[in-house]
Amino acid sequence: MLKTIAGMKDILPSEISQWHYVEKICMEVFKNFNYKEIRTPILEMTALFKRGVGETTDIVEKEMYTFEDRDKTSLSLRPEGTAPVVRAYIQNKLFNDQPVTKLYYMGEMYRHERPQKGRYRAFHQIGAEYFGATSPLADAEIISLISEILNRLDIKSYVFYINTIGCQECRPKYKEALKNYFSNHFDNLCEHCQKRLDTNPLRVLDCKNSKCKEIAESSPIIIDYVCDTCKTHHEELIKLVDFIKIPYKIDYRIVRGLDYYVRTTFEVKEEGGILGAQNTILGGGRYNGLVSQLDGPETEAIGFAIGVERLLYLLENISNSEYIDYVVIPLGKEQIDMAFKIATSLRIKGFSVDIDPRSGSLKSQMRWANKLGAKSVILIGENELKNSSYIEKNMETSEQKVCSINDVLN
Ligand code: ATP
Ligand code: MG
Repeated sequence: MLKTIAGMKDILPSEISQWHYVEKICMEVFKNFNYKEIRTPILEMTALFKRGVGETTDIVEKEMYTFEDRDKTSLSLRPEGTAPVVRAYIQNKLFNDQPVTKLYYMGEMYRHERPQKGRYRAFHQIGAEYFGATSPLADAEIISLISEILNRLDIKSYVFYINTIGCQECRPKYKEALKNYFSNHFDNLCEHCQKRLDTNPLRVLDCKNSKCKEIAESSPIIIDYVCDTCKTHHEELIKLVDFIKIPYKIDYRIVRGLDYYVRTTFEVKEEGGILGAQNTILGGGRYNGLVSQLDGPETEAIGFAIGVERLLYLLENISNSEYIDYVVIPLGKEQIDMAFKIATSLRIKGFSVDIDPRSGSLKSQMRWANKLGAKSVILIGENELKNSSYIEKNMETSEQKVCSINDVLN
């Protein structure tokens, strides 16, 4: 039997109402904050992610699904949404909608990771990018938007972890300090971090290895190194965040996995123990340089991405309130034509309707109608057909009434 690829799964009809629910709430919140949806292809040139995500990131180093097209161009399934959205922003000159452009996306991402709870090879992200605003207002707005999504989904026990990681001016000094610090613990770092020390020492702070984590706990912190601009930005953001009353902590070691971040970075973690080790629901931050690095105009932006699968774990008790308005039951083969006509008329009028295609026993037909959550059933028997009528039975009250076929068909 052929099966899905490890770490990839089908979303079944029994699960889909939860997905629709989350998507609907997110779309409403995006509308409240004036974001417009953008959809980009799932396949892009590998060069986009190499340049847009960064050669030294986990994603590009080891997680991408990359293959050659027939003309030998290297292509990759998108591992994240920001680089494609930035590409689309540049390619379609969306920057002409000045002063700002606010976009959101929802879609499947692909990363070759070790599959486990909350970590898959195909997973979904809902995210947004806010282009063209340098003010901490934009950072606060993004944080407010996220908290609104989480609140409307009734998610409890989440905490924002907010940091600043400086800018091109001040970060090099911090990187240097980190490199010095970690060099003193070189032998105790994992192999990967030993290599990262030269290329990207900030990434050691993000390592999941327990020894590296322990060492990182006493490392120098960024706030002692940031320049005045970055410091003011951070302080102004925190003032705005205080107004929206969200649970947050300032955590000077939140660095995020991607290369392009400046100043604000943040993550939201679930702290009720439901998600286990993979308890980061979402991450985001401010970036500059990315738009110009991909040949667009110098533009600062801020964005975030929620992992939808992790979010769904937290919604387990959303009731699956599936229902259908009518189930039409022809009691014999001769009534199938009329069942089809009645169902069609009701559907055109906007009702949800299904027809039992078997002319089986009434008992099993009623059982099926119950299973579908039918509000009413329409019974068409031999006698009814003769009189151009049908019986409508309300499934909740069991009340029955005789109706005229002509009334429903017109
Ligand atoms: P992690 O540290 O858990 O690997 P990340 O830093 O790689 O996360 P991002 O690239 O920031 O994650 O993606 C944002 C969100 O997407 C994460 O917080 C998480 O909820 C979700 N996510 C990332 N990778 C996966 C995956 N393989 N399976 C399911 N969800 C994922
Ligand atoms: Mg990861």
